[in-house]
Amino acid sequence: MLLKGKCAVVTGAGKGIGRAIALKLAEQGANIVINYRSSEKEAEEVVQAIEEAGGAAFAVKADVSKFDEAEKLIKGAQEKFGRVDILVNNAGITKDTLLLRMKEEDFDSVISVNLKGCFNCVKHVSPIMLKQKSGRIINISSVIGLVGNAGQANYAASKAGIIGLTKSVAKELGSRGITVNAVAPGFIETDMTDVLSDKIKESMQDSIPLKRLGKTSDVAEAVAFLASEGASYITGQVINVDGGMVV
Ligand code: NAD
Repeated sequence: MLLKGKCAVVTGAGKGIGRAIALKLAEQGANIVINYRSSEKEAEEVVQAIEEAGGAAFAVKADVSKFDEAEKLIKGAQEKFGRVDILVNNAGITKDTLLLRMKEEDFDSVISVNLKGCFNCVKHVSPIMLKQKSGRIINISSVIGLVGNAGQANYAASKAGIIGLTKSVAKELGSRGITVNAVAPGFIETDMTDVLSDKIKESMQDSIPLKRLGKTSDVAEAVAFLASEGASYITGQVINVDGGMVV
């Protein structure tokens, strides 16, 4: 129970990687705030799974791209559990298409959820963590933010932006006992990657040194480590969880 008594907010936690992170942090003893944007049913199912395992959780509807909704999410967590120790910015979307076909709104919406959403939550959690003189912020980036990808100019820009934000905020908040790190997953099996054809998935798998696609639990393990006491001297870093994909 490495995180007993801690409060963790996980954005976009109703399914996929966010869900796995929420379950993992709960398993370590943290009280969890499950953020969701649209599916209350999915979020409540995660809450139920945590409660059945003996943990505490509640779900909060908020679109993290909206500054005020992100504020309500963070304040709600603080009111319920008295503090916020861990923030995992996981919510993300894709709107893939080649640059020539990419509409302005495809670019804006991806930046708005992935990058601005991360900023919004960091902004609102910072005063709480500064007062506590402790905190862990973990931002979910992507290897695409490191190497780029045809058809993902918007997504790659948002995920590279998260890395710049992570490093800057790590420098700003480090002296107050707050660490800020990013996790960059490679190809993880979730709804986000389910839309790709089997042919693309097979060729991806071939290019990965560990010869398998990632599981949501692979990402959750890295996040749990960064949230743990053992990671207290790690900040401003990007941890790739990609089976060696971008070595
Ligand atoms: P997913 O689509 O299964 O889950 C994303 C979650 O974010 C959903 O629950 C969705 O409702 C939520 N969300 C979207 N917009 C939101 C908003 N405005 N406010 C609140 N919640 C919102 O995707 P996933 O694969 O689990 O991805 C999770 C994160 O990991 C994303 O940031 C994604 O970019 C990143 N990532 C995924 C992969 C992968 O291969 N699956 C690889 C690298 C990075």
